[in-house]
Amino acid sequence: MHLAVKSSQQNIIIIGAGLVGSLLAVYLVKKGYEVTIYERRSDMRLQQNAGGRSINLALSHRGLRALEETGVDQQFRSIMIPMKGRMIHDADGKLTFQPYGKEGQTINSVSRRKLNEELMTVAQQKGAQIHFNSKCLEINLQQSIAIIEDPTGNPIEVKADLIIGADGAFSRVRKSMEKTERFDYSQSYVPHGYKELSMPAQNGEFAMEKNALHIWPRGQYMLIALPNNDKSFTCTLFLPFEGLSSFQSLQKEAEIMSFFHHTFPDAAPLMTELKQDFLTNPTSPLVSIACYPWVRQRTVLIGDAAHAIVPFYGQGMNAGFEDCRIFNGLLDKYGDDWENILNQFQKSRKPNADAIKDLALQNFVEMRDLVADPKFLIRKKIEAKLNEIYPQQWIPEYTMVTFTDIPYSQALEEGNLKNKIMDEVMTDPQIKKNWENLDFGSIVQKIS
Ligand SMILES: Cc1cc2nc3c(=O)[nH]c(=O)nc-3n(C[C@H](O)[C@H](O)[C@H](O)COP(=O)(O)OP(=O)(O)OC[C@H]3O[C@@H](n4cnc5c(N)ncnc54)[C@H](O)[C@@H]3O)c2cc1C
Repeated sequence: MHLAVKSSQQNIIIIGAGLVGSLLAVYLVKKGYEVTIYERRSDMRLQQNAGGRSINLALSHRGLRALEETGVDQQFRSIMIPMKGRMIHDADGKLTFQPYGKEGQTINSVSRRKLNEELMTVAQQKGAQIHFNSKCLEINLQQSIAIIEDPTGNPIEVKADLIIGADGAFSRVRKSMEKTERFDYSQSYVPHGYKELSMPAQNGEFAMEKNALHIWPRGQYMLIALPNNDKSFTCTLFLPFEGLSSFQSLQKEAEIMSFFHHTFPDAAPLMTELKQDFLTNPTSPLVSIACYPWVRQRTVLIGDAAHAIVPFYGQGMNAGFEDCRIFNGLLDKYGDDWENILNQFQKSRKPNADAIKDLALQNFVEMRDLVADPKFLIRKKIEAKLNEIYPQQWIPEYTMVTFTDIPYSQALEEGNLKNKIMDEVMTDPQIKKNWENLDFGSIVQKIS
């Protein structure tokens, strides 16, 4: 049996004070480690946000659970906006509401900036040091030394008992690992990019239903909108980079406005800064990144640095926060036995990171295409009914991913099986009429 022994105070370096690095720092300082973070950017808390864009994220069960464990959740509960389901806007502006789960099961819109700022503040209050304008250039993996460009532009070397790369999708820490033998690495871009656009408050009120994630599914492209505390919405347009309606083809003001008014007729009039937003806000790519191992000697990757995914399941940050919770659990179990901790961490998390990568790609199809399909609505109703009658046996995939801690790999495997069963159920040509009279018991039996 392993004893959770923690020897003399150990010093841990985290590269990146993003969402995951800052939360992990809170966990680690609470355990008594000496934690120093090096962050490339300047301190966002010192920058004015006047007129700045609000960017939000969907925080769900896995992320909230980690925040709860560190005691940081209370600050957010009051500013989170619960979203009970998807509000689908069809091409004629007709609305359909699809609940995400049972009553009380919501995902939550939070400001990315506020969340990051608060996590940094709590980490510092509890004893972590954060060095801003300090960019990691490289890691000497053999000697556990991080080479950092300090704010004056000079390279400095810092040694640690453990180095954690929480420096996001284009991680420098990972780059150092890529130079080592037998390091697997893959990245793939979807043909779509994204652009954030705003929908300001109308006469001091939300322009649309506040407690929903709004979706305008249009096949090859889609628009989504999440509510902000200032009663605006942040909209994100997902569009192919190239082709007929694409970021490449939409260049002139008239084309942009015509595309929006034609494609998203109820949203366009509410997006009063559309022209300016579209022309000035960046268009960004969407990448999935997988790599292995995540550990070399005493350096480990976590969050997007280890597993960046496309945003269509709203799980990237949630998965990164879950990484922190699992890592903390391993510290409880193995004390300072780093070899065991790091190995167990990568072994247990890698299959789950791979699974949520696949789930996120699958969900893009569901969001941009299927949610607009009336048969899909019936399918969701049948699944909700199955879950109501057989709450243990039939948990819909979305529920497993979003409202539970069930490992992502299990959610993917069981989800695929249930999808097959549901495909079969949906072949009934009379399903729209008959769905309430289905033999639900025999459907559930097909799982085993
Ligand atoms: C459009 C979009 C929407 C999303 N929506 C959601 C959502 O609704 N829900 C959800 O759960 N997830 C969402 N995500 C995913 C989420 O943003 C990421 O999973 C999350 O930010 C990962 O956190 P991180 O700390 O690992 O990386 P990051 O947030 O990228 O933070 C990395 C930090 O490291 C710093 N850094 C980078 N390089 C260096 C260096 N060399 N030296 C020092 N510091 C460095 C960066 O400045 C940054 O502060 C979305 C992503 C996108 C693109």
